[in-house]
Amino acid sequence: MISFNRPPHVGTEERYIAEAIVNNKICGDGIFTKKCSRWLEEQTKAVKVLLTTSCTHATEMAALLCGIRPGDEVIMPSYTFVSTADAFVLRGAKPVFVDIRPDTMNIDETLIEAAVTARTRAIVPVHYAGVSCEMDTIMEIAARHGLKVIEDAAQGMMSAYKGWALGTIGDYGCYSFHETKNYSMGEGGALLLREPDGIERAEIIREKGTNRSKFFRGQIDKYTWVDAGSSYLPSELNAAYLWAQLEMAQEINENRLKAWNIYYELLTPLAETGKIELPYVPKECVHNGHMFYIKVKDVQERTELISYLKERGVHAVFHYIPLHTAPAGKRYGEFRGEDKYTTKESERLLRLPMYYGIEPGEVELVVGSVNSFYRR
Ligand SMILES: *Cc1c(COP(=O)(O)O)cnc(C)c1O
Repeated sequence: MISFNRPPHVGTEERYIAEAIVNNKICGDGIFTKKCSRWLEEQTKAVKVLLTTSCTHATEMAALLCGIRPGDEVIMPSYTFVSTADAFVLRGAKPVFVDIRPDTMNIDETLIEAAVTARTRAIVPVHYAGVSCEMDTIMEIAARHGLKVIEDAAQGMMSAYKGWALGTIGDYGCYSFHETKNYSMGEGGALLLREPDGIERAEIIREKGTNRSKFFRGQIDKYTWVDAGSSYLPSELNAAYLWAQLEMAQEINENRLKAWNIYYELLTPLAETGKIELPYVPKECVHNGHMFYIKVKDVQERTELISYLKERGVHAVFHYIPLHTAPAGKRYGEFRGEDKYTTKESERLLRLPMYYGIEPGEVELVVGSVNSFYRR
């Protein structure tokens, strides 16, 4: 069976985790957390990167930092993971869903402005499959209406837009290090800050509302409770696992891109017959091979293809059920404008196996099975 995903594992994780144990500090913000955040700051050029317990939690922190309050509206796509909306719903805000572009599956930047009202506080672009949203347009709309921009870059580490690392263009960026992402620590994430003025408050929110980070730097004698916050810092054991991956970040990236390119090349003839569609990467975007998806005719063909592939030992999956059609999405959110592509395109999308270390021969086998399905 060719599995759909395998958590990344480069071989040095065990040694680093053992080191973390020997260091006698397995709670957060030890040596490995520092190494990871420094590496991420250098790699992305964000003014500050804080490791978190998940991308969901990084987004919750961003919502707190933006001062999102009950009654506020936050614009986002409906074609995304629940966390994009949940982090704002927890603050009492209403997710306002806008249609996606069928080519990248990202929020359609040309529809955002029509969804802005006096209650709108923020825009949350989701960089689907590690391919950037049209950020210049989004930032320009945000500036014109005084809105914050929080990038859901859960899938976007090592990707760029016009040379900028994803997650560093908006006010805040959120990465995921879940086991399904390109780099992992099991469960984990990071919050990226573009401006220095939010750093102190972000550190406080992450440390249960205390100024403990300042205390550790020797800037104050005692730490105390200064604001509302939560516990958003990951254990050193998790950070040690991530550090192993970050040391190999280029290699992991190249390995995924190689597999992605093989898929693209081998599936191009089938795409040229019009039977399937392949992903599109705008020329100003550098992607990270996070995902390889195809789009088929409709949901029925997709169901048939999934079981055909399964019979041949290939595990292919789909996502997302658009949030505005989910029970909580109906309760808390609203789709503004016409759902021209969100539902239709989400029903056509199929993700093929993709992980660090997938063999070219395995990619060929997957493609062979897709081809034979259409030759039946
Ligand atoms: C994975 C993912 C998340 C959630 O990440 P966690 O680290 O599991 O919280 C959020 N948004 C998108 C688009 C994702 O793909």
